[in-house]
Amino acid sequence: MSPSRDRRTTDRLSLAALEHGRPFSERHIGPDSAELAAMLDTIGVGSLEELADRAMPTSIRTDPADWETSGQRDQAPPPAATEDQVLTELRTLADSNTVLVPMLGLGYHGTITPPVIRRNVLEDPAWYTAYTPYQPEISQGRLEALLNFQTVVCDLTGLDVAGASMLDESTAAAEAMLLLRRVDKSKSDVFLVDDDTLPQTIAVLRTRAESLQIRIELVDVTSELPTDDFFGLLLAAPGASGAVRDHTGVIAAAHERGAKVVVACDLLAATMVTPPGEQGADVAVGSTQRFGVPLGFGGPHAGFLAVRQQLARQLPGRLVGTSIDADGNPAHRLALQTREQHIRRDKATSNICTAQVLLAVIASMYAVYHGPSGLTEIARRTHRMATVLAAGLAKGGVEVVHRSFFDTVLVHVPGGAAEAVAACRRDGVLVREVDADHVGVSCSEVTTREHLAAVWGAFGVQGVGVEDLDAATEDAVPAALERSTAFLTNPVFHRHRSETSLLRYLRMLSDKDVALDRSMIPLGSCTMKLNATAEMEPITDPGFAGLHPFAPESDAPGMMQVIGDLEAWLVHLTGYHSVSLQPNAGSQGELAGLLAIRAYHRSRGDLDRDVCLIPSSAHGTNAASAISAGMRVKVVKTTERGDVDVEDLQRVIDEVGDRLSAIMITYPSTHGVYEPHVRKVLAAVHDAGGQVYVDGANLNALVGLARPGRFGADVSHLNLHKTFCIPHGGGGPGVGPIGVAEHLAPFLPNHPAQASAGPETGVGPVAGAPWGSASILPISWAYVRLMGVDGLRRATLTAVAAANYVAARLRDSFPVLYTGPGGFVAHECILDLRPLTKSSGITVDDVAKRLADYGFHSPTMSFPVAGTLMVEPTESENLAEIDRFCDAMIAIRAEAARVESGEWPADDNPLVHAPFTARSVLVDEWTHPFTREEAAFPAAGRPDKIWVPVRRIDSAHGDRNLVCSCPPLEELAS
Ligand SMILES: *Cc1c(COP(=O)(O)O)cnc(C)c1O
Repeated sequence: MSPSRDRRTTDRLSLAALEHGRPFSERHIGPDSAELAAMLDTIGVGSLEELADRAMPTSIRTDPADWETSGQRDQAPPPAATEDQVLTELRTLADSNTVLVPMLGLGYHGTITPPVIRRNVLEDPAWYTAYTPYQPEISQGRLEALLNFQTVVCDLTGLDVAGASMLDESTAAAEAMLLLRRVDKSKSDVFLVDDDTLPQTIAVLRTRAESLQIRIELVDVTSELPTDDFFGLLLAAPGASGAVRDHTGVIAAAHERGAKVVVACDLLAATMVTPPGEQGADVAVGSTQRFGVPLGFGGPHAGFLAVRQQLARQLPGRLVGTSIDADGNPAHRLALQTREQHIRRDKATSNICTAQVLLAVIASMYAVYHGPSGLTEIARRTHRMATVLAAGLAKGGVEVVHRSFFDTVLVHVPGGAAEAVAACRRDGVLVREVDADHVGVSCSEVTTREHLAAVWGAFGVQGVGVEDLDAATEDAVPAALERSTAFLTNPVFHRHRSETSLLRYLRMLSDKDVALDRSMIPLGSCTMKLNATAEMEPITDPGFAGLHPFAPESDAPGMMQVIGDLEAWLVHLTGYHSVSLQPNAGSQGELAGLLAIRAYHRSRGDLDRDVCLIPSSAHGTNAASAISAGMRVKVVKTTERGDVDVEDLQRVIDEVGDRLSAIMITYPSTHGVYEPHVRKVLAAVHDAGGQVYVDGANLNALVGLARPGRFGADVSHLNLHKTFCIPHGGGGPGVGPIGVAEHLAPFLPNHPAQASAGPETGVGPVAGAPWGSASILPISWAYVRLMGVDGLRRATLTAVAAANYVAARLRDSFPVLYTGPGGFVAHECILDLRPLTKSSGITVDDVAKRLADYGFHSPTMSFPVAGTLMVEPTESENLAEIDRFCDAMIAIRAEAARVESGEWPADDNPLVHAPFTARSVLVDEWTHPFTREEAAFPAAGRPDKIWVPVRRIDSAHGDRNLVCSCPPLEELAS
C-alpha cells in the first residue's frame, strides 16, 4: 500500500475548504488565532465579541445582521473574494473602459511615466507606504525628493519659494486667492479672474469664494481692467483656449492698483515661455501632472503653489527646508510649521494637511531623469506638434483662432464642433468641444504624426504633409516671450541621465527612510495599516490610468462601476444616505461637509447660522476647515476624562443661540475612546437647530460595528487613506469622501464637466476633477471586495484588541491617559509622558527620536494632548511586531529611569542625544557616560538594525535661515 492510501479520510480537507486558499482577511489581519488569544488574555477578555460588548457603548452599536438598508443607494459589499478573483474583476473593469488618445487638454495631458519611476516609486512600498515626514531623521529620502520638487517649481515659475505640493491646480488657485486676501490692504472683496482660465478652476474658485463673501469677476485681460477696486487677479498662462499672452502689462497695471497677481501656469510651457515670476507675478499655481503622472480619470496629481520671498510665511501646506543636525551636517525637515493647521488651528494659513507627496516625488524624478535639456526637448516636440497641427488645419482652409499658443490649438468651425469631435472620436482621438463653434485640440508628450493626421481628417483636411509643414512653419510662441533664463542648474538635475544612475539614486533615497515596509508605524489618528499589493496593482492598469477626467462617462463604464460600487458600499457601512467621492483629502471632505451644512441652513432661510462648535481636543483641520467655510469657531471644553464637557457644551449652545450652525466632533474621540454619552451631545446640538459633523478619520474603530449615519450624525468625512487602505505616500495622496444624511444630499459637491458627479443643486466642486482622485479608488474597492463585511468587522475588532493590548502592556511604564467604558480604549491609546518629563527631563521628542535607534517610527507626538504619545497599532501588525514595539518602549522607560536616578546626567544620556548615526558612534574618542553599544544597539532594538542617516535636526535654525530649494550650480561652485 502506498503511504497516501494509508491516510485516514478524516485528515483530509474537502475541496471546498481548499480551493480558495486562505481568505485574504487572514493576510490583512496580522495576529493569527493563537496570537489573538494571547492578546485577549493579556487584556483580560475571553473573545473579540466580549471585548466589543464591554468596550463599545450599546447606544452607538448595531451589527450588520441588524442593519436596515437605506434605499437604493445602499448596497452591502458582496462576500469576500480572493486576491486572484479581485484582480480579475478589476482587470475586466479596466478593460471595459475606452481609453482614447487624450487631446482634450484643460490642464490634463498625455504623459509617459518612465518605467524606472513607475516601478521604483509609484509601485514601490518604500515610497508609497511612508508617512508624512514629521520625523525628519527617518525621512531624509523623501524630504530630498520634495526639495527637488520645490526646486523644479521655483525654477520653472521664476519665483522664490514653493511648497511640497497642493491637492490639484484648482484648489491651489483657491488657496492662492485666499493667500492674497490675507495680505490685502485694500479691503476690496473682488477677485478678478482671467476669463480664459480653466473652467473647473473658475468653478472651484466660485465654490470657495461664496462662503467667504469674495466676489469673483471674470475679466477679458486683453482689454482694460475694471475701474472698481479688487484685491487680486488670477491670470492663465497659457489660457484654457491655448492662447499664450504677454501678461507683463496687465500685471504691472494690477500692481499699480495695489493688487497682487497669481498666474496659473503650465510648467512644461514654462521651459520655453517667459515664466510668471519674470513677468512680474507674485504667486504661481498649477499642476505637475504632465511630469510623468498618469491622467487617472482626474488624479491624484500634485498641484503646486509658489510665491515671492515676502509671502513665504503665508504659504499654505507643507514646505521642506534644509537645516543642520546635532553634528552640524545639513539635513532636511519641514519648515515654518507654525503656519500649519495642526498648530494654528483656526488661525492657520489653510486647512490643507494631506497633500500629494507621492505624486510630487514622481514629478520631481521626471525632472531629475530628463533634466533641463530633456524637458525642453519634450516641450519643443509638443509645441512643434501643435504648430504643425495648426498649420495643416490652416492650409486645409480651417480657421485657427490664436496665433500664439504652446500646445493647444483652438479651431473655429461654425456650427460644426460636435461633428468634428465625433469624427475625431471615430479615429480614437479625444478632443474638446468648447462650444457649438469651437474645438480645442491639445498636444503633449504622447502626440504622434498619426494623431495629427487623424485630427486633420476629422476636420476634412486632406493631403497635407508633416515634413513640409514642419519646415515651413515658425514657432507660435512670440519671440518677445521666449524664455531666456536657465533652470534646473543644480547637479541633481544633470547626474541621473542613465537608468542605472536613477535607479541607484531612488534606492539611496528610499533606504534613508522608515516606511511600513521596514517597521510598524504606530501613529495614532493616522491608521498606518497594510496597503496590500493586490489592492495597489490595478491603479497602474492603463484602463484606469489612461482616462482623461473629462472623457464622456460612456468611455469609462468600468471606472464608473468602481465609483458606484464604492459609494454604495460606503453608504452601507456608514449608514448615510449618499456619498461623494470628490474631496481629495480629509480636509477637503471637512470643507465639503461644512459647505453642505451651510447651504442647508441657508435653504431654510437660516442665513445667520455661522458658528461651528469644536471640542478643544479636535484635529487642527477641523477648525481650519470651519474658517474656510466662512464659519466662526467656538471651542467646547473637554472634561478631565477626555470627553466633551456636556455642561460647557450646553453653556456654549445657550450663548450662541440662533447662530449655531454645527458641531464637529471626532468619533471615537481623538482621545481614542468611545465616548458613552455621544448621543446626548448630538441631541443637544440638534435640539438647538444645529447640524452634527462627525469627523470619520477614526472609522477604523467603527466599520462593521456602528454607523455614524445611524447614531445621530448628519455628515462625516472618511479618510480612505486611513481606514480603507490607500497608502499615505509620504504625505499624500488621500481621498476624503463625505457621507451625508438625506436632507444634506442636495448640497453635496458637483462638477461643471460631469453632470453625474453630484446633484444639480450642489455647492459646486471642491476639487478640479469630478471624482477627485479617481485612479486610487480601486484600492479601497479592492479592500472592501477582499474583506467582505465579516472581514471588515473582524479587522475593526482586531484593531481595538491591538490597541488595548498595547495599553495593557505599557500601562506600568507609561500611564494611559484616557479610557472609556470598562477601562478600555478604542483603536488607539494615549501614553502620558508628562510625569516622566517632570521626574527626568526626558521629553516626548527624546522618546520619539530614541525609538528611531530601536528601529521604530514614533507614535503621534503631542496630539491631541501636549507631552503625550498616541499609539495606534492597527489590525495589520502581528503580535511579534507589536511586542517588539512594546519592548522598545519599556526599554526606553528603563533608560529614562537611569536618568531619573542620576546615573546618567540629564544632558548626557542616550535619550537626549538620540538618534545616533553610525558615524557618531564610530569615533575614536568617546566621552559619554553610556557605551557605544548602549547608544547604537540597545538590547530591545530591532534585530535588523536600521541606521539613521542624520542626527537630531535643529528645526529652529532652519526657520531662521530659510533654505527651501537646491542651490544652483553657480552657488555650489563659489
Ligand atoms: C487625518 C485626520 C484629518 C485630516 O485628514 P487629511 O486627509 O490629512 O486632510 C482630520 N481629522 C482627523 C481626526 C484625522 O486623523
